Amino acid sequence: MNTLYIVSASLLLLWILGALHRNRRAKNRIIRVVEENCTGCGLCVKRCSRRVLEITVDENGKHAVLKKTDKCTACGDCIPKCKFNALEMAERIR
Ligand code: SF4
Ligand code: SF4
Repeated sequence: MNTLYIVSASLLLLWILGALHRNRRAKNRIIRVVEENCTGCGLCVKRCSRRVLEITVDENGKHAVLKKTDKCTACGDCIPKCKFNALEMAERIR
């Protein structure tokens, strides 16, 4: 029984520490699109579960943009999807 409590408490503690870490990361960091490298392929858009990114066409051509800056958790999941070095993590400016 004691072992079950210890395991449960450890898992809860790990979850809380992970949540605090994710929260702090989201407050301080944000993804940035390097427009000159972006081809507008859209792979990052498909990868982002928070629906933060979208493809737009403007005077710089077709490229990804952050449409909901407050929703980016800086998880970094989109970065490995980009084969053109067009995504980088940046400090969030408030
Ligand atoms: S860092 Fe995470 S939340 Fe932010 S755009 Fe990339 S996948 Fe989405
Ligand atoms: S994966 Fe890279 S090149 Fe493709 S749209 Fe996203 S940022 Fe642009």
